[in-house]
Amino acid sequence: MNALAELRKRASTPANPANPANQGRQRAVDSQDSQDSQRVEVKSHFLPTALSVLSAPVADALKPIRAHLLALAAAEGIDAAHVHRLHDLDVAACVSLDALQLAGYLAMLADTAGRHAGRAPAGDTAAMHCEQCGPVWIHPDIAAVLPVVDGWPRALGCPWCFVRKAGGHIPRPSVTCEGCAHFTPDTINPAAGMGTCGAGMGMHWPITRHACGTHSTRKPHEEA
Ligand SMILES: [Zn+2]
Repeated sequence: MNALAELRKRASTPANPANPANQGRQRAVDSQDSQDSQRVEVKSHFLPTALSVLSAPVADALKPIRAHLLALAAAEGIDAAHVHRLHDLDVAACVSLDALQLAGYLAMLADTAGRHAGRAPAGDTAAMHCEQCGPVWIHPDIAAVLPVVDGWPRALGCPWCFVRKAGGHIPRPSVTCEGCAHFTPDTINPAAGMGTCGAGMGMHWPITRHACGTHSTRKPHEEA
């Protein structure tokens, strides 16, 4: 068994759990040993005792993989900084991925960085309702497979949850107060008068579209 395969067997905790390349790592370890041996030749006595600190030879062995990622990033028009920021263990996890999978991985890295910066990926043009985040942008292919309740594709979590937890900005699809559980219509002119928001988001006309993170068609007592 070569050094990288041994390294990944020891890495019971991924370097970055949010990293899509870490998903299925164990499966890759089980099935890709022979491929690894063809791609990277590292002597086992170079293995580090602490996974957080790789020896120079092991780090050197990862350079061709990182170079491949950089070449793919250049071809796909993706910022090379996403590759440079990768931990060596994340790079090692890429050994078992083909070029198409690596391109998808790089695209996910770029999308994740964009969400951190408060930008929705260009292809995320559909609106969904996350149980935790409220209305958010999502890719239409994902929205299409979600259960739809009260007109909203819904899920218990979403790709913006980590942004919310970090206190970052979430760009929102526009909504109307009409139909929102928090909205109390004007008593004199319910259809068109300015009503009030029970979630503390101010006063709005019922059909005026605006961004709102607390919009919900569920009654307050139904919310988690
Ligand atoms: Zn969410």
